[in-house]
Amino acid sequence: MAQLTDDCFAFGGKLTQVDEALDQLKGTLKPSAKTEQVPLAGALNRILAENIISRKNVPADNNSAVDGFSIYYDDIQSGSETKLPITGRAIAGVPLGRLQNRGEAVQILTGALMPDGPDGKRPDTVVMIEDCLVDGEVVFLPEGIYRGANCRLLGEDIQCGETILRTGCRLRPQEIGLAASIGCDHLQVMVPLKVAVFSTGNEVLNPGDSLFEGAIYDSNRYTLMQLLKSVGCEVVDLGILEDNPKIIADALLSATIKYDLILTSGGVSTGEEDHVRKVVENEGSLLFWRLAIKPGRPVALGQISDTVFIGLPGNPVAAMVTFLQIARPIILKLSGANDTVPKLFSVQSDFSYKKKLHRREYVRVQIKKNGNGKLIAKKYKREGAGILSSMVFADGFVELSEDIVNVEKGDFVNYLPFSELGL
Ligand code: AMP
Ligand code: MG
Repeated sequence: MAQLTDDCFAFGGKLTQVDEALDQLKGTLKPSAKTEQVPLAGALNRILAENIISRKNVPADNNSAVDGFSIYYDDIQSGSETKLPITGRAIAGVPLGRLQNRGEAVQILTGALMPDGPDGKRPDTVVMIEDCLVDGEVVFLPEGIYRGANCRLLGEDIQCGETILRTGCRLRPQEIGLAASIGCDHLQVMVPLKVAVFSTGNEVLNPGDSLFEGAIYDSNRYTLMQLLKSVGCEVVDLGILEDNPKIIADALLSATIKYDLILTSGGVSTGEEDHVRKVVENEGSLLFWRLAIKPGRPVALGQISDTVFIGLPGNPVAAMVTFLQIARPIILKLSGANDTVPKLFSVQSDFSYKKKLHRREYVRVQIKKNGNGKLIAKKYKREGAGILSSMVFADGFVELSEDIVNVEKGDFVNYLPFSELGL
């Protein structure tokens, strides 16, 4: 029976659920084995290709966390202040140079080594300068100090023999700093995937060109190239392909020689001019192509020779959503990166919404505070898969899982911030 509808998702064919599709792929995707050494300063956002085991304790010895006086806790009087002679000075990089005995206070600056003491004992406590009263050569220490105060202990950050970073981790500023703290100056990292990007469509033109009637500017290639860079890929722009099976086949086949992955947008639906999917089917193998995801749905994943092919839908928001939900985890896996599952946060919906069972939907939202200071998700005024301005408006998505059919204003929903997706 003919179906008259404005819902392009209303069709009878079998849809593949997002998790089902990703599970199918898990076993089949082999991470690239190519690695290279980079200097620490150039390692930001790279994927580590080795476990880093520390051969040092950090700190290498006990040292002071503040400016103050190094003392033996057992010299503290209980019930009154304690008076001790100031007998020396230790600064960062210039230790006391002799043993500190019981009954002495040694002036110590932040980062200076705690002096050693006789008979295997050593001062164990630092009293902050702000808490002390200095009178010439003596210092008065207040009551209420605890044993070990303001003293950083040998190995309290990193123990010798500890694995501090593991293969597959993305190197953020803090990982790079940690590697530096044990003296690493180079790291073995994964070689980035080389990715070729095409757009398809007779109506699609480069920004800067003059538009003919019915033509549009290519936004997808620009978004997708930046998304690829955000996951650490080396990106090559291969322009726009006409809706012509021969041209598409030639371009895809020559790209397979040079690139690890080909990413296209458009031309993967079932329309007469949607040739990309057929070319991949003819030249290689195709894994799946109709996903129960909105915006999104037609996604083609395949392989031609050793090159992975991902064909995303043409509509700009659908291209972004399917990149983030499907292409991104695939690319991270192929890049040798650890599986990082983006975290969802519970917020209150400021809108009501109806959706289809068995389909996952991504609603573009901005996060605001309501009158009670609680976080609420506000939906963009328009929903279409071509409304790219909604992605600029949004801070992230409300992810409505397959089992949900209805959301009421005030319901708690799962919020996925763009920052969880590296945007
Ligand atoms: P398709 O999947 O090729 O049928 O395209 C679906 C819709 O997305 C059509 O309206 C196209 O004009 C549009 N579209 C396709 N490619 C792009 C692109 N690179 N940039 C912006 N819109 C596009
Ligand atoms: Mg098209």
